[in-house]
Amino acid sequence: METQLKLNVAGLDFVPYIPYSQIARRVEELGTELNHDYEGLSPIFLPILNGSFMFAADLIKEICIPCQVSFVKIASYEGTQSSGKVSQLIGLQQDLEGRHIILVEDIVDTGLTMASLLKELENFRPASVKIATLFVKPESLKEEFEIHYRGFDIPNKFIVGYGLDYEGFGRNYRDVYCLSPD
Ligand code: 5GP
Repeated sequence: METQLKLNVAGLDFVPYIPYSQIARRVEELGTELNHDYEGLSPIFLPILNGSFMFAADLIKEICIPCQVSFVKIASYEGTQSSGKVSQLIGLQQDLEGRHIILVEDIVDTGLTMASLLKELENFRPASVKIATLFVKPESLKEEFEIHYRGFDIPNKFIVGYGLDYEGFGRNYRDVYCLSPD
């Protein structure tokens, strides 16, 4: 699919931001790092659906050490805690006790979702939990946690494509687009 100079997704205009060629190069680098860091540890990748499906597919194709993959979803609801947001993992099939987990996410924005997930994962008593996310918006981050594997730090722009959606549309594009400034 060719890069489109202007893309309309569910009524909003988007312009090209990061081409797939650049993403592919970065994903390959992250894969190399993971192969090195997790040698002998038999990690389990937990890609968080829906947004991470393309990133997870490309990243995991770069992994050449023994590993498992289990797709999960997040059920979010407004909690009564001060963070206001509670996220719960659903669809988990494996026992995570003593396992080395790599959470695969599309984008960390405020970090509230990830912070809540990290807290929930503690209950499963894993050996370690690290995050691999394709995008981070450092200016929006409100929570403190380490992001070990990050593809691109981006400014506070709304992006679609390569798995990321607007109103459920736009996940299918291989390039990443951002909201048009005009
Ligand atoms: P957080 O809890 O970090 O604020 O939110 C993370 C979630 O918000 C992501 O998994 C994603 O679903 C959504 N999100 C945040 N920024 C963007 C963006 O720029 N584009 C899209 N499509 N989704 C975003």
